Amino acid sequence: MIKRDVLVIGAGAAGLFCAAQAGARGRSVEVLDHAKKVGRKILMSGGGRCNFTNMYAEPANFLSQNPHFCKSALSRYTQWDFIGLVAEHGIAYHEKTLGQLFCDDSAKDIVDLLLNECKKAAVTITTRCEITSVEKIEGGYLLTTSNGEYSCESLVIATGGLSMPKLGATPFGYKIAEQFGLNVLPTRAALVPFTLHDKDKDILAELSGIAVDVYASCNDTTFKEAMLFTHRGLSGPAMLQISSYWEAGDSLSINTLPNDDATALLQTARTETPDALLATCLNKVFPKRMVQSFIEYHNWRNVPVKQLTHGECDAIADTLENWQIKPNGTEGYRTAEVTIGGVDTNELSSKTMMAKNVEGLYFIGEVVDVTGWLGGFNFQWAWSSGWAAGQVV
Ligand code: FAD
Repeated sequence: MIKRDVLVIGAGAAGLFCAAQAGARGRSVEVLDHAKKVGRKILMSGGGRCNFTNMYAEPANFLSQNPHFCKSALSRYTQWDFIGLVAEHGIAYHEKTLGQLFCDDSAKDIVDLLLNECKKAAVTITTRCEITSVEKIEGGYLLTTSNGEYSCESLVIATGGLSMPKLGATPFGYKIAEQFGLNVLPTRAALVPFTLHDKDKDILAELSGIAVDVYASCNDTTFKEAMLFTHRGLSGPAMLQISSYWEAGDSLSINTLPNDDATALLQTARTETPDALLATCLNKVFPKRMVQSFIEYHNWRNVPVKQLTHGECDAIADTLENWQIKPNGTEGYRTAEVTIGGVDTNELSSKTMMAKNVEGLYFIGEVVDVTGWLGGFNFQWAWSSGWAAGQVV
């Protein structure tokens, strides 16, 4: 039997960061993970450069049934704290856009940072370790694993969400929560591309590879970012962002002309170039390939603009600025960056992340019902929640 003060299950962003904090306080800490390698999602993140935080991170960038829950941890360990740590480790980084900070070289720098912090704090990390049972015993927990039995005072669950099962995601954290009587909110894939119904896909798939800036709206939320047509449907940051607010059956409203006034565009064309075809007029503001497909898709008449009725012009302008499209679904957990839902925050202390009714049991990171926008917010939640638990476990 191996005895530790603290056992952390999950050697991802939140687990490793929490372990380093607890170890630095002099606690004996071991991190257990079933995967071969630690921090696999970190290594994949940000296209291999890890968007490790966001300069503008604040509670409004997170979704949760209780939007107040994340405030305490985010304010006690902020993006500036993590940026300071990154600088301390000599990792070069840059802002890509919208406050998103990426490593200049490689996401491996962030994994190395976490491993160095764990090493400094004498944390033991054990990979390829399957946890077969967790039991509450007096003064702590007893775990049966493929590495033998462990006991600990504090047990931290940092097993993440369900996205990308190929990278080691499992529902383990939710099952442990349920085992100890905690409510788990329904989960769904988020920050994920949309798939389209065949009737839309047949025409729009021809646009695969084209990206345009849009306003994408759904359920009272709007993002202005790029939308990418793919051979399966719609992707790009605007679509990933809005996917977190979309539920099955909802339509998306897409303004494909975020920087222009569609009505004015058509009016000007009618006055200044009345003999120009609709396509010629739209080619000024959209990629050519998109114009051809959009005309076909929306059944617009590609005639000299002077021949279009006022009603037709209004309808075209309205569609360009408020295109309603109902996705068929999303690509699901296979390609999603995150999972919405999870361990109900009402069950946890926002200060320590400990289950209110289960002494010594903690949940941190993505397994908790706190989900960030695209742009480094999810890692910031991993750091902040891991730090909060790391001060007390
Ligand atoms: P994870 O990092 O998922 O770690 C969970 C760990 O638990 C894993 O090591 C896993 O092997 C282990 N585990 C799971 N089940 C078990 C089990 N049964 N037994 C033992 N161990 C188990 N967020 C950003 O902020 N910026 C980005 O650039 C970004 N890019 C992303 C790119 C991709 C492709 C993906 C999939 C996600 C990205 N995210 C990004 C989201 C971010 O990676 C996650 O929100 C974050 O990793 C969550 O941290 P976590 O520690 O809670 O969980």
